[in-house]
Amino acid sequence: MGKKQIAVLTSGGDAPGMNAAVRSVVRTALTSGMGVFGVHRGYNGLLNCDVEEMNLRSVSDIIHNGGTILYTARSPEFNSPEGVQKAAENCRKLGIEGLIVIGGDGSFRGARDLTQAGIPCIGVPGTIDNDIACSEYTIGYDTAMNTAMEMVDRLRDTTESHDRCSVVEVMGRRCGDIALNTGIAVGAMAILVPEQPYDFERDIYQRMQYTQRIGKRHFIIVVAEGAGCHVEELAKEIEKHTGIETRATILGHVQRGGSPSLRDRVVATQMGYHAVKLLLDGESNRVVAMRNGLIVDFDITEALEMLRRFDTELYRIAMKVSI
Ligand code: ADP
Repeated sequence: MGKKQIAVLTSGGDAPGMNAAVRSVVRTALTSGMGVFGVHRGYNGLLNCDVEEMNLRSVSDIIHNGGTILYTARSPEFNSPEGVQKAAENCRKLGIEGLIVIGGDGSFRGARDLTQAGIPCIGVPGTIDNDIACSEYTIGYDTAMNTAMEMVDRLRDTTESHDRCSVVEVMGRRCGDIALNTGIAVGAMAILVPEQPYDFERDIYQRMQYTQRIGKRHFIIVVAEGAGCHVEELAKEIEKHTGIETRATILGHVQRGGSPSLRDRVVATQMGYHAVKLLLDGESNRVVAMRNGLIVDFDITEALEMLRRFDTELYRIAMKVSI
């Protein structure tokens, strides 16, 4: 019997630290006696047989780079029963006996479907949003928060010089973790997230007027992308209700790039290693996760049904302190 051949791909939105995870997967697989293919552009690479045989040097000098050397994509063609069958068929042709998918929930649904089609898959959470319910941490989250914090610090300087209010939108479509943590770190007066109901009158206008009376002259409001409010509109409303000059800024994709933080590099290395060990042990349909600081794994199907828990206590503290 020849050596076991596995493959690795990155899928969905990219995140800093994906390269560190790819490096860990490739090196763990090779030093465990397996062969490993890098698949290009997510599931598209399986549909087009766009793969490269990796060696120990293929992943040299990438641990500190953002983005992903394997490229990433959203693949509408794969997202159909025919697409999944074609990808599984191509895996069999290429001799791929196991696949590691670094991505988010959508990518894990694909991994579950591909496992059902006969190709054992393992998911590794790589997404800046920290929106994977089974894991308290996702690769890219720490770097993205630090980037957001740094950007808002810069805005803060000019906001302060002009006695203005800045409304800043950060990423997080279904999850307010980046907004909450960045908001605390920059001393935001209000933080709007999808998980917490809010009221403009109570949580913003009255709060601003009160803090103004007790000497505050400039204001930062952090809004998660998925909080359900348009930051440009909100800025206009704030100006109308309080008379304070207000500017809106959408940080956008800058949060997706940049050199990964130490934490992202370390966690990516741990998770990549764990994923390969699972395949070596004959496991499939598992997603790697962090729980209480430890690297563990869950059945993908069960993981996809779990509900995310928002840290309401941290939110309460943020509101108490930012006054
Ligand atoms: P993320 O992995 O970051 O959540 P997406 O939701 O865009 O990103 O998913 C990435 C890719 O995973 C999709 O383009 C598609 O190819 C695949 N995918 C998403 N949902 C499913 C699904 N329900 N079944 C099969 N494949 C899926």
